[in-house]
Amino acid sequence: MEIVTTKLNSDCGACSGLCCAALFFAKADGFPEDKNMGTPCVNLQRDFRCAVHGSLAERGLHGCMAYDCFGAGQKVTALFGGDTWRNRPSRAGEIFEAFLTVRMMNQMLWYLCEAWRIEPSAEIRALIAENEEAARGPEVAAFDVYGYKARVDRVLKRITGEVRKTANGKRADADCIGKSFRGRNLYGTDFSMSLLIAADFEGCALGKANFLGADMRGANIRGADLSQSLFLTQIQVNAADGDHATKLPPGLSVPTGWAGASPAYR
Ligand code: SF4
Repeated sequence: MEIVTTKLNSDCGACSGLCCAALFFAKADGFPEDKNMGTPCVNLQRDFRCAVHGSLAERGLHGCMAYDCFGAGQKVTALFGGDTWRNRPSRAGEIFEAFLTVRMMNQMLWYLCEAWRIEPSAEIRALIAENEEAARGPEVAAFDVYGYKARVDRVLKRITGEVRKTANGKRADADCIGKSFRGRNLYGTDFSMSLLIAADFEGCALGKANFLGADMRGANIRGADLSQSLFLTQIQVNAADGDHATKLPPGLSVPTGWAGASPAYR
């Protein structure tokens, strides 16, 4: 089975501004204002582009910079053909529901693609196929996404345990907030679900280190080698502090805001 993860990278140019309209967000989390679900952001323009895209960092809009939809925006925009929440307001609720559902589904797909590379089993193949089949039409919001997530979580938990065993890695503490690992070789360490807020990984070797669900806000990954790390997502990378010397796994891009990075389109 060929796994194509590029379709799980966000493509804002092919999206109808869904994340900037569908989601609830709060100013305290680094967004421009407190707003309800379904209300477009004040900075979202008629053409679905962000009016302040070039100055998100200067404005302190870290929530906008960290967010990633796992390709749900362009996928849902395509599912509804030419109908958008703007030109067909009567379908706005349906479109936003679909976006929230597909966003969860695509995040699970991202993890499953990673799991498939570790263990190309029939079980993982079936979960990927089920996901793709359920998201073929605009009625995707009817999919039992929470039941599906429970099954995916069980598989990921099992694989996480097996990876740790195979790599002979240690389980990190659940709370590593502000902890310094600077310069260490952390091969095979299991950081899954750990709080890594403001932790210092500068210069670390992180081959086979597992970051499934870890909170990496403000973690220092400057000069760290994450090229062989597992279950890392664009959101985690966006929320961390890296630089030109940080090595990322295939499929993840250098975020807006890192030293020397060029802004991604939104
Ligand atoms: S990216 Fe721009 S339009 Fe979207 S929520 Fe942030 S400020 Fe608003």
